Amino acid sequence: MMNKSDIRKVLDDTAYVRVGGSPEEKRCAQYLAQHLLDRGMQATLEPFPVDMASIQEARLMVDGQDIPCKGYLCAGSHDVEAPLYYLRGTDEHSLRQCRDKIVLLDGYMRYWMYQDLLKHGALGFITFDGNVHFADDDIDQRELRAFIHQGNLLPGVNINVKQAIRLIEDDAKAASIHLKQEHWQGESQNVRLDIPGATDEWIVLTAHYDSTALSQGAYDNMSGSIGLLALAERFKGQVPRFGLRFLWCGSEERGLLGSKAYAEKEDEMKNIVLCVNLDMVGSTMGGFIACVTGEEKLMHYIQYLSQIAGFGLRARQDVYSSDSTPFADKGIPAVSFARLASAGTSSIHSRYDSQKLLSMDNMMGDIAFIGDFVNTMANAAQCPVAREMPDNMKDKLDIYLNRKRDKQA
Ligand SMILES: [Zn+2]
Repeated sequence: MMNKSDIRKVLDDTAYVRVGGSPEEKRCAQYLAQHLLDRGMQATLEPFPVDMASIQEARLMVDGQDIPCKGYLCAGSHDVEAPLYYLRGTDEHSLRQCRDKIVLLDGYMRYWMYQDLLKHGALGFITFDGNVHFADDDIDQRELRAFIHQGNLLPGVNINVKQAIRLIEDDAKAASIHLKQEHWQGESQNVRLDIPGATDEWIVLTAHYDSTALSQGAYDNMSGSIGLLALAERFKGQVPRFGLRFLWCGSEERGLLGSKAYAEKEDEMKNIVLCVNLDMVGSTMGGFIACVTGEEKLMHYIQYLSQIAGFGLRARQDVYSSDSTPFADKGIPAVSFARLASAGTSSIHSRYDSQKLLSMDNMMGDIAFIGDFVNTMANAAQCPVAREMPDNMKDKLDIYLNRKRDKQA
C-alpha cells in the first residue's frame, strides 16, 4: 500500500497546472501510467478529442480605460462596442435590458444564462472571479463550452472581482471587447487500468487528474487520483468477483469530457454495475461525504458501513458535479466520495489549491475507508445495487445536464 511519503512524492511530482488538452495534462497522464508500471501494472492512455483555442489578443476597454482581462477560449474572434449593463438578476425586466449591451454577469457562465443572453440580444459578456479580500489579482482562464454556445458565439472576457466592483462604483457606461483567437481540435486522454475479476462484470473507479488554469489541483483532484493509485496497489494480484476498472479521467474541469467520452463506449458500459468516484479527499479540515446517484438504499448502506467502521461520514442522495455523473446518466449507480473542506479553509480552482490543504492522516484514512467499501462490493456474490435510476435522480440529472431548467434557480 502507498504510505504517507509515497503520497507526498506524487503530490510533489505533480505540483503543476495541467489543463485538459494541454501538454502538461498529457505529461501527468504518462506520469500516472509510469507510476503504475513501476509497480507492475500496465495502464493505457485512451485519447479523445477536445476543442482547443489560443488567444492572440483579448482587450476590454471601459470608458476609455483598459481593464485587465482574459478572453474566453473557443468564443471566436470579434470586435464589439456597446453600453455596459450589469445583470444582477434573471427576472424578465433585468433580462430585457441586455439588448445591444455588453453584459457584466455575476459568477460563472452557465448554460441557461447563455441562452438568456442570446435570446435577449446581448452583444458580449464580462464575467469575474477571485475574491475581493484576497491579495492577488488573478484572473482565471475561462472557455465557452461547445454544449453552451452550440455554434452561437458571443465575445466574452473574464476579469478580477476587484475590477468588476470598480466598474460599478464608477458607474461605467461604454465598453468594447476585442477578441482574436484560433480554434483547433486537440486531444485529451483517460488513463485506464483493468484488474479483471472472476466475472465479466465491472466496478469502475474514477478520479480526474486535470486541473484548472491557475491551479496545481492538489486537493482538486490529485488527492482522488492518488486514492485510485493506492487502491490499484491494494487490489493488485487479486481476482475479485467483479473486475475493477480504474479510470483517471482527463478534462473533467472542462465539463466532464473524459468520463463523457468513456461513457459513449456502449459495449463496455453494459457490463459496469457501479461507479465509485473520488473527487477531493484527504483535506485537513472538513467532513467526509458520500454522494449517491442511485437508489436510496445504497446511501443507507454506506451510512451503516461508516458507523460500523467508526468513520465519520454523511451520506446523501444527489448528483455530484464530477465524473460519476456521465455514468449515472447511463443508468449506472454511482457514488462520489469527498472530504469537503470547511468554509474558509480551502480554495479550489485557484493558486491556493496546493498540498498545504491536505493531511496525510486523512489521505490514508479516507482511502482506507473507500478501499474497504470497494472490497466489499467487488467480492459480493451479486451486486445488490439496482442498475436503474430512481425518478428523483433522473430529474436531478436532467437539470444538471441542462435538459431541463431548474425553476428554483
Ligand atoms: Zn474536481
